[in-house]
Amino acid sequence: MTATPARMPALFIGHGSPMNAMASNRFTRGWSDIAAALPRPRAILAISAHWYTRGTFLTGQATPPTLHDFHGFPSALAEIQYGAPGDAELAAELATELAPFGAHVRDDWGIDHGAWSVLVHMYPNADIPVLQLSIDAMRPPLYHYELGRALRPLRERGILVLGSGGIVHNLQRLDWTNSLPPAVWAAEFDDLVKAKILASKDAALIDYPALGESAQLSVPSPDHYLPLLYVLGSRAPGEAASIPLTGFDLGTISMTAVKLAGA
Ligand code: ZN
Repeated sequence: MTATPARMPALFIGHGSPMNAMASNRFTRGWSDIAAALPRPRAILAISAHWYTRGTFLTGQATPPTLHDFHGFPSALAEIQYGAPGDAELAAELATELAPFGAHVRDDWGIDHGAWSVLVHMYPNADIPVLQLSIDAMRPPLYHYELGRALRPLRERGILVLGSGGIVHNLQRLDWTNSLPPAVWAAEFDDLVKAKILASKDAALIDYPALGESAQLSVPSPDHYLPLLYVLGSRAPGEAASIPLTGFDLGTISMTAVKLAGA
């Protein structure tokens, strides 16, 4: 048993292809190693790129369904069930605390593949309650960062804030051979973002479109980038960050992970 920490670490994971759920590769093994080094969370609050909504919502079911929110993948992937419980009471509490952001509990979502494709490796026993927080597509980056700041106290209650997306996520320019080095602009943007995270240059990460052409190509739509801003928003003043995993899948999907150290 690990004692409850004063502040849970927080994580951003580049989840890559849904196929990672069934794979054993350096990223999936890395996710499992990252989880093994964490104190056991009381609950996981996942901010997945794949719950991209108009408004801010929380899942509130006692038994959230596993969503197979993708097309064109083998049927074995659609058969995976991640049977983690929810926590209706915690969802109601969080909706109250996040009322300034208009957060509401909804029962028409569950655990989507942005969350479970990673969680099957992190917590294969599926015995920690999982809630999801949606990403309001209508809001600017600063809103998501500020909402992340409102999540900071949750970390002091043993809740793991888990952003799941990708710093670089361009599906139009994939390298299907998966054998070439990452695209130059992709590597450049991923490196720039990592450097700014380590130097706590949050303002530049919020205003990411100003980072130039590599940003436009790396973040053609904000959904996979924004979960990072929730995690960075939850960072305590002076809290150390590290990059436990980095690399690319199919040339233009960043698998970079970020960990806030906790206390
Ligand atoms: Zn995705």
